[in-house]
Amino acid sequence: MSASTPIYRVAVRALCDFTAREGDLDHRFTPSPSAREGMAGHALVRRRRDDTYESEIALSGCYRGLVVSGRADGYDPARNRLEEVKTHRGDLSRMAANQRALHWAQVKVYGALLCAERGIESLTLALVYLDIASERETLLTEEASAAELTAFFEEQCERFLAWAEQESIHRQARDAALAGLAFPHDAFRPGQRELAESVYKAAATGRCLLAQAPTGIGKTVATLFPTLKAMPRQGIDRLAFLTMKTPGRRLALASLARLGGDPGGRQRLPLRVLELTARSKACVYPDRACHGDACPLAAGFYDRLPAARRDAVERGWLDREALREVALEHGICPYYLGQELARWSDVCVGDVNHYFDASALLHGLAQANGWRLALLVDEAHNLVERARGMYSAELDQRAFGQLHRGAPAPLVQPLGRLMRQWQALVREQGGAEDGQAGRPAYRVLEGLPERFVGALQRVTVALTDYLAEHPGVGDPALQERLFEALAFARLGESFGEHSLCDLTRHGRGRATLGLRNLVPADFLAPRFAQAHSSVLFSATLAPVDYHRNLLGVPDRSVWQSVASPFHADQLEVRIQGAISTRLHDREASLDPIVDELAGQFRRRPGLYLAFFSSFAYLQAVETRLARRYSELPHWSQTRGMSEAERDGFLARFRPGAQGIGFAVLGGAFGEGIDLPGERLIGAFIATLGLPPFDPFNEALKARLQSRFGCGDAYAYRIPGLIKVIQAAGRVIRSPQDSGTLVLMDDRFQQPEVRKLLPEWWRMAGSALP
Ligand code: SF4
Repeated sequence: MSASTPIYRVAVRALCDFTAREGDLDHRFTPSPSAREGMAGHALVRRRRDDTYESEIALSGCYRGLVVSGRADGYDPARNRLEEVKTHRGDLSRMAANQRALHWAQVKVYGALLCAERGIESLTLALVYLDIASERETLLTEEASAAELTAFFEEQCERFLAWAEQESIHRQARDAALAGLAFPHDAFRPGQRELAESVYKAAATGRCLLAQAPTGIGKTVATLFPTLKAMPRQGIDRLAFLTMKTPGRRLALASLARLGGDPGGRQRLPLRVLELTARSKACVYPDRACHGDACPLAAGFYDRLPAARRDAVERGWLDREALREVALEHGICPYYLGQELARWSDVCVGDVNHYFDASALLHGLAQANGWRLALLVDEAHNLVERARGMYSAELDQRAFGQLHRGAPAPLVQPLGRLMRQWQALVREQGGAEDGQAGRPAYRVLEGLPERFVGALQRVTVALTDYLAEHPGVGDPALQERLFEALAFARLGESFGEHSLCDLTRHGRGRATLGLRNLVPADFLAPRFAQAHSSVLFSATLAPVDYHRNLLGVPDRSVWQSVASPFHADQLEVRIQGAISTRLHDREASLDPIVDELAGQFRRRPGLYLAFFSSFAYLQAVETRLARRYSELPHWSQTRGMSEAERDGFLARFRPGAQGIGFAVLGGAFGEGIDLPGERLIGAFIATLGLPPFDPFNEALKARLQSRFGCGDAYAYRIPGLIKVIQAAGRVIRSPQDSGTLVLMDDRFQQPEVRKLLPEWWRMAGSALP
């Protein structure tokens, strides 16, 4: 092994993944052991070896400037045997040949490193396959001389070296270009420079920044530009721009194109930009399974990957369309090519899931490769809710009952036990009380129902073993129930005060058991701590403590609120304090609301949005408006609108048109839409956006009260007002816009509500002093 100046460092696993994978991509469902089971399996093998056995041996070597390092699982000096331990489930003979070849490549590289480090002449290499269910070991061995292993090692390094060299050259070129990166516009907009400076500081000091900045100042470029600038100086390896929805991704890509990422742009940067999409959006054959026998783009995937990867990184700009084009040119799957390219891209534009989810791709890669990763999180006011969803799970009694009724013999008993536990649970929780007046019966449980969870775990093992033994079983319900059970069991392992367990009964035999996260901070805090820096930004990120506490950002995080560039006189804000939109006052509110809509429309005809708390309320107002002011043009959001229907709704907001679009607060039109100038001249908001007052939200409130002392504000008021401010933000999109905002509810006059409204509203010459 030559000692030369290091040009590139790579882990043994990453090296072998790159050089020793061939054949088909195979994501056929094979229930592999969980990470916990894997660790327990490794510990079991260690315990079975004698005292001289060495485990987790750190090894490293260098070949022509390529530094390769990793930890070998174990070495038995008495037998002179180097072991690579792999846990598995089911029949080992079904393991694909290319998977086995990858394992041999790993143990051979470790063998070469061990021989070189300890001067060993020859060695027994062993792959130890431990069956998690039976705890039986299968040992595959091979004798190898140091010379053979060195030759193998050097061959792998040679295969990787050309790539490593171009990676190293790319990094230097990228960093040099980013150091000289110019702001893509002639001047900063008001507030934009202030935000950009704070973002730069966050990246330079490795901190988390929570930035509230108004719409229209160009937040996307104000966060991307300084982070890219900071990358060379801070040795930042990767940048992840994370969004809540697809339009956010598009905006980020447009800004990156302007900054020079797009080869079609004016200044061409040597910057690799990748758009990450969901499998459902990227898949070319949605009706096929992801393996070579079913999908032509999985067949020979690894054989064609090297050329596709080379082409892809040469292009540099890989939005969804470009990625698909490269993938199809090489006859491989665009989704899995995207997963591979996440390793080699400088900027990944994806969903918040890609970093914050329990098994997130970008988080996994950052950890495995020791990346310095800078995070930018757009529309961060939604992260609390999104993260709660990532760490929640639900089981459906009826679905498991159906599985039980048609279950194959080995599953009948464990499923039967689980169904008895369902019944016991329903009984214990007062199962006689079916939902009253068509409403489901709801109970928050004291903790996790242990006997139920025990039965569920047995079902998980039985289902996993069954699917491992019968890989061709085509019943998707088996896999779906297994995934649900695994997700529930996994979250159950970390159950704590951040979550609750609840039972909802919709009728006989129709209960759901939920494990719902309330405080995502406990899951997200390590993610923030592991990132080099993170910037959470939004137009509505106040009050900061709400987000700090619920997201778990580091203590030394910085808060910044960029002043609005809009003037108070651009927005007339009016509170209609005589109206109450409380549930029991709704009927009485219909006439005053339609009078307000019609009055405002008569005074200033044009295009307006009116927001309500629910579809039922929306329809009631719409009916009343049609009856009393039939001449007033209006149109409404409906439940589950398709993309085309949503576009149709928005298309009516065209210059010169008139009318009122009715929408539900917090829905598709409450944020993320841009209707500048006369395309929207006002909004009516007939709700405080409060989540429903129900047993779940009451339990949430109690938990947040005991943990943070702010139950009511954190469970109801703040999430509601964030939606109101987001919706109101549709009206003024630029310093040239002017419009009217009518807040319809007496509670908007309460001091605790008023203090949550934007500062610059209060300055308006309006009912808000
Ligand atoms: S194209 Fe679709 S089915 Fe084929 S490998 Fe890709 S994701 Fe799987």
